[in-house]
Amino acid sequence: MMHENVDQLCAKLDEELKKRGLSRRDALKLAGIGTASFMLNPSEAAAATKLEAADVKGKIVIVGGGAAGCSIASLLAKKISNPDITIIEPNPQSVSYQPGQTLIAAGVWEKDDIMANNEDFFPSEAKWVKDSVTEFDPDKNRVLTQKSGEIGYDILIVTTGLQLNYNAIDGLSENIIGTNGIGSIYFADGAVKTWQLMQEFVASAKSGKKVQGVFTHPNTPIKCGGAPKKIMFLTHDRLVEAGARSNAELTFYPNGGSMFGVPEYHEAILTQFKARDMKWQYKHNLIAVDPGKKVATFEHHYLIKGEWDPDIEEYEMIPQVKNVEVPFDFLHVTPPMSAPDVVKNSPLSWKKGSAATGGWVEVEKETLQHTRYPNVFSLGDVAGIPMGKTGGSVRKQYTVVVQNIIDFLNQKKPSAKYGGYTVCPLITSIGTVILLEFDWSAKPTPSFPLDPTKERWIWWILKVYLLKPMYFYGMLKGRA
Ligand SMILES: Cc1cc2nc3c(=O)[nH]c(=O)nc-3n(C[C@H](O)[C@H](O)[C@H](O)COP(=O)(O)OP(=O)(O)OC[C@H]3O[C@@H](n4cnc5c(N)ncnc54)[C@H](O)[C@@H]3O)c2cc1C
Repeated sequence: MMHENVDQLCAKLDEELKKRGLSRRDALKLAGIGTASFMLNPSEAAAATKLEAADVKGKIVIVGGGAAGCSIASLLAKKISNPDITIIEPNPQSVSYQPGQTLIAAGVWEKDDIMANNEDFFPSEAKWVKDSVTEFDPDKNRVLTQKSGEIGYDILIVTTGLQLNYNAIDGLSENIIGTNGIGSIYFADGAVKTWQLMQEFVASAKSGKKVQGVFTHPNTPIKCGGAPKKIMFLTHDRLVEAGARSNAELTFYPNGGSMFGVPEYHEAILTQFKARDMKWQYKHNLIAVDPGKKVATFEHHYLIKGEWDPDIEEYEMIPQVKNVEVPFDFLHVTPPMSAPDVVKNSPLSWKKGSAATGGWVEVEKETLQHTRYPNVFSLGDVAGIPMGKTGGSVRKQYTVVVQNIIDFLNQKKPSAKYGGYTVCPLITSIGTVILLEFDWSAKPTPSFPLDPTKERWIWWILKVYLLKPMYFYGMLKGRA
C-alpha cells in the first residue's frame, strides 16, 4: 500500500536533486511540467476549490476507474458546479501506478510503492459502483452490470483500459508467469515474480553458466511501447552489476521491423543496444511457449527475392513465414493486447479498418468523441486512436475530454483537441533514461530544448522520483 504522501515524495525528490545542485522548480521546468504548481506548494494546492465551474446538467457515467477514469472524474468534479458522476470499477486498487511495475521487476521498487486505494483518490463528489460492466447498450444510453443491474447515462466515458491476452500464445496463461523462467511486467504480481526470475537468471550467469535471455514484443498495439525494451536494459544492468554479463546473451524479438516508430528514436535505441552488445531479431512474433522445455516459438516473417519484373525494373519480393524455435533461460513476455471483450463485442468498437481487430473504441482522434454516438467519449488505453497508450497521453487527453463534455452539455461543438502527445521514459540503465516524446507527426516533440535522443540522469530522476507524485497528486486529482 502506498504509504507516502505528496510531501514525503517531494522530500525524496529534493534529496536526489540536491545531490545534483538542482531545485525542484528547475527540475519541473526542465521536465516541461513547470505548470505543476501543486508540486511546489502541495498543501496550498490541496485546498484549491472549484474554479470557473460550469453550470451544466447531465448524468455522467465513467466505466473504468484507472488512470484515465479517476483523472477525468476528478477534473469533472472540479469543473462542474453540481456534478452527477458515477464511476463503475470492480478493482479497489485500480488507481495503482502501473509504470512502476518495470522498476519492481528490476528490484528498484517494491509492490507497496505502487499500490493505492481508490477511496483515497476518487473524488468525493463521485458515486463509486464496485462492479463490472457486462454490456454496453449505447442505443438506449445504458450499461448493464454484473451485480448492480442497468445504469443509464446522459454522457458515457469509456476508460476500461486494455486486456492482456496471454492465452493467445499457445502454452501460456497468466498463471504460468513467474514459473519456468517466464516473466512479464504487465501486472503487478507478474512484476514481483519477474524480479525473482531475473535474480535467478543473473545468479546462473554468475555461476559460470552460459545463459540466454529472450525479450518479446507482440503484433498488436501495447501500452507503453518502450516497456519490452526497458526490462531488457535493466536485465543487462543487473548482469553487469553482478560481473556476469559476458555469460549471458540477451536478444530482443519484436514483431516489427524497427526499434521504434519514430526514426530518430529508432536510431537512438539501436545505438544503446550496440553499446551494450544486446542483440535483436526483427519480424518475430511469439506464438507458443513450452515452459517445461524452456523453448519459445516465433512466427518469423521475411521476404525472398522472386522474378525480375521488367515493368517496374525491380525484383518481385515474396513474403515468407516460418516458425523459429528459440531456447531460453529467462523469457520476458509482452502479451498481445486488445480492448476488453465487453468493449470489443459492443456497438462502440471500430467495425472496419485495422482498429477493428483490436476492438478499440471508435473515437475521433482529436476530440475523443465517439464517431457514431456523440454522447460517448473515450480516452486512455482503450481509445481507438493511432498512438498514445501511456499515462503521459492520458495526462493530455483528460483535460480535452472534460472541455468537450462541457461543450456537448452546452449543445456546442467540441472545442478542445488532443494533439497526439505521448511520452515513454525509456530506461537504458539504473540511473539513465531517454525521454521519448512524440505526437501525431511521429517526430520527436521534446518538452525542453535538450537533444531528445540522448540518455540522461535527469530523466531517471524524473522517472523514479517525479512522475509518481505527478501521477497520484497531480493527474489523479485532476490538477496536472
Ligand atoms: C509495465 C508498464 C509500464 C508502463 N510504463 C509507462 C510509462 O513509463 N509512462 C507512461 O506514461 N505510461 C506507462 N504505462 C502505461 C500506463 O500505465 C497506462 O497507459 C495507463 O494506466 C492507462 O490508463 P487507463 O485508465 O486507460 O487504463 P487502466 O489504468 O489500466 O485502468 C482501466 C480500468 O478499467 C477497469 N475495467 C476494465 N473493464 C471494466 C469493466 N468491464 N467494467 C468496469 N471497469 C472495468 C479496470 O479494472 C481498470 O481499473 C505502463 C504500463 C505498464 C503495464
